[in-house]
Amino acid sequence: MEAHHIYKSPKTLLNKGTGFLSGYTHSLNPYTGCTFGCSYCYVRQMPVSTFRGEEWGTWVDIKKQAADLLRKELRRAKSRGKVTIFMSSSTDPYQPAEYKEEVTRSLLEVMVEDAPDFLFLQTRSPLVRRDIDLLLRLEDRVRVSMTVETDREDIRKHFTPDAPPIQARFKTLQLLKEAGVPTQATIAPMLPSSEQFADKLLPLVNRVCIDDYFMGDGSGGRRTRSLNIGALYEPLGLEDWYHPAAYKAVYEQFRNIFPEEQLYVSREGFEP
Ligand code: SF4
Repeated sequence: MEAHHIYKSPKTLLNKGTGFLSGYTHSLNPYTGCTFGCSYCYVRQMPVSTFRGEEWGTWVDIKKQAADLLRKELRRAKSRGKVTIFMSSSTDPYQPAEYKEEVTRSLLEVMVEDAPDFLFLQTRSPLVRRDIDLLLRLEDRVRVSMTVETDREDIRKHFTPDAPPIQARFKTLQLLKEAGVPTQATIAPMLPSSEQFADKLLPLVNRVCIDDYFMGDGSGGRRTRSLNIGALYEPLGLEDWYHPAAYKAVYEQFRNIFPEEQLYVSREGFEP
């Protein structure tokens, strides 16, 4: 489906970090809406989506003059103390619109000139590789967190048909590592995966975070239940994977391959 784009001029860009993001002073969303439209995305039930009256995944608002706004807000925030930014909590900063719009890139340019204390960059898109030049200039003040919920492309297609292929994300993790950008593979929400998942990630990253719906949706799984995500497991005969205990088996698999200090569970993997 063709996504529907609107240009908007926001009044503010940096939002206070609250709830799940309480470890951050601010969150930063270059877009409103997200055309990856993942089935399990609980932003679809938040006011930003429900007030809109259009299906989540079919629209995106592009924030105009975002760099000028961020430059001012960042300067002000830094004059008041430490600034740690989570980008992004309710959109993907490297969704397809970013190829042409370059809002996220313009924000990184501002942050390279006037660096926050820390930037956590959450994406599932291989497009992040375009900005390696800027990410390197942030040195150890940045971490890229690449979502890889599974190593199985059939599972990826089933749950998130409009998201980038898993293989492209693996390749991007490799490029980020080779370039020297601090990176983690984020298995969140953990979807059914193969026995080789940990082996595949071992050469690509030295930091892995595992999170599931029950620990990670900020409501003990309630938000996910109301999306009726369990129904997506049934036709696959994989209901066992939709259970709070399922992550333990995956964690064990990773524990056999990765040193413990490289493994993070739920919230600790998202902290600055
Ligand atoms: S990429 Fe993230 S924000 Fe976008 S639909 Fe998927 S889960 Fe939601």
